[in-house]
Amino acid sequence: MTESKENKTKKSSAKTTARKAAPKKAAAHPAENKVPANNVTMTYDSSKERILFAAFEAVPFIKTGGLGDVAGSLPAALNKLGADVRLIMPKFATIPQKFKDQMVHVADFYMPLGWRSQFVGIETITYNGVIIYFIDNEYYFYRDQAYGYYDDGERIAFFSRAILESLKYLDFSPQIIHCNDWHTALVPAFLRGKYGFDVMKAAPGEVEGRPYSDIRTIFTVHNLKFQGMFSGYMIGDVLGFSQIEAENQGLVCGDAVNFMRSALSFADRITTVSPTYANEVCTDFYGENAQDIFNSRRNVLHGILNGIDTKALDPETDPMIPYHFCAGDCLAKPSDGTGSISDQPHIPEGKIQAKMELQKKLGLQVNPDKPIFSIISRLTDQKGLDLVLAIIDEFMQMDVQFVVLGVGESKYEDKFRSMGEFMPDKFAACLYFDEPLSHQIYAASDFMLVPSLFEPCGLTQIIAMRYGTLPIVRETGGLKDTVRPYNKFDGSGTGFTFANYNAHELLFTMKDANDLYYNDKNAFCRLVSQAMNTDFSWDVSAKKYLELYKELI
Ligand code: ADP
Repeated sequence: MTESKENKTKKSSAKTTARKAAPKKAAAHPAENKVPANNVTMTYDSSKERILFAAFEAVPFIKTGGLGDVAGSLPAALNKLGADVRLIMPKFATIPQKFKDQMVHVADFYMPLGWRSQFVGIETITYNGVIIYFIDNEYYFYRDQAYGYYDDGERIAFFSRAILESLKYLDFSPQIIHCNDWHTALVPAFLRGKYGFDVMKAAPGEVEGRPYSDIRTIFTVHNLKFQGMFSGYMIGDVLGFSQIEAENQGLVCGDAVNFMRSALSFADRITTVSPTYANEVCTDFYGENAQDIFNSRRNVLHGILNGIDTKALDPETDPMIPYHFCAGDCLAKPSDGTGSISDQPHIPEGKIQAKMELQKKLGLQVNPDKPIFSIISRLTDQKGLDLVLAIIDEFMQMDVQFVVLGVGESKYEDKFRSMGEFMPDKFAACLYFDEPLSHQIYAASDFMLVPSLFEPCGLTQIIAMRYGTLPIVRETGGLKDTVRPYNKFDGSGTGFTFANYNAHELLFTMKDANDLYYNDKNAFCRLVSQAMNTDFSWDVSAKKYLELYKELI
């Protein structure tokens, strides 16, 4: 570090004291500290709303995107409100061994899937106050990744049917199955087509089991782009339906089957993960050829905004970041004891230290005064990255640093890789999936780009604000519902927004943000403070889901 840089660091250190992260051992996931690792004998209370929450991924077991975050946090938030929500998901090979070691065997059986008879194992643990059932089948789930295989349609069909079949073996008869995305979209079809006369296992205290026909379904759309479309051969071969039965279940779409259309047609309620997206999916532009169904079912369509697990994603305690800070630090008394609580917010010292640590780690010039613009994303067209490619050369001529963490299409990976090679002290391209690094980038950055073409909710911008990083987003879907645009007249806002899908609008908005950073530090710091003080917990949204459940029971 040069002398002048050192001085600048010292100057900023005078404001507040950075808290170095506690050793890893002491800083486990908050949930791990409080909840017995394995408590499968949680009491069964039939007066509670009984919901089986079905998802293909959930934090901390496996995550490829926002669905994993939601499935890993919403059930716990609902249980805190008094419901009995249990999660069911596949037992993937990649689940950390420490969780596999805690799993307790519940049942195993064979289940029909078309002409096949397939093994289903059920194992369970309790985590963060939620009973979790894992569907075990090594043929389908012992692979390196969750998705992306030639037989994904069959794997998903297996999972959906196994969810229903499990109810003949579990001490839990749900009133509602809450399905999420196309991976669980076959549940309503199987429920109607295959389980109309079946009975679930009697739950503790019940004399006889309840009929499957009592079960109601909710289908939540996290991403409409992926609907699960496969060749029509699946109808008989995998799903075990005749052509007519499949048509009755809304599965047939021309020569193909479409799993999600069926759920959209037959789930008792449909939700999207933000109110704006619920309106957008009814339009031709965003509807992905399902707008006809959304429009015809508007009376059961609800938009409920995603929250985040504010305990796990807390810059004050996050074990994955090197220095800690909180919203209060923006107004904290200077650490040298002089002065009173400031009415001029400043950047928390922990965030400044985290920035320098990241710069060091990624080989960027170590200088806390340089703004870091970041992207943490799947590198796909959905995320508006063609806009970024169109302006990145021009933008990088400014005095800024840029960090990309993401995996995806080669046109994006190639460009970002070459930028990193061309200007290694200004541009870092991390083209892989790395959860701890993502947290370090959230903590260290000044701005987070999410210029999506469409965005059902988006968690990146929410996590960014929680870590004091200002989002720069296009006004679509959940981005519009979560980021309050900066108003230069009254200083309000929590980030920067632009309306049209246009590369120059993005560029001008990034330049405005950069301008504020360099030329109006007070206004910039006030925005950081406002972003960090926004409530993104599940409190409000979990209540809305509970109301929806109660409406159906
Ligand atoms: P989507 O679900 O469409 O991918 P979201 O914004 O809802 O988008 O959620 C993305 C989640 O995945 C965020 O928690 C983000 O931090 C995380 N993420 C995306 N890419 C990476 C990556 N390469 N490494 C680590 N985390 C990532």
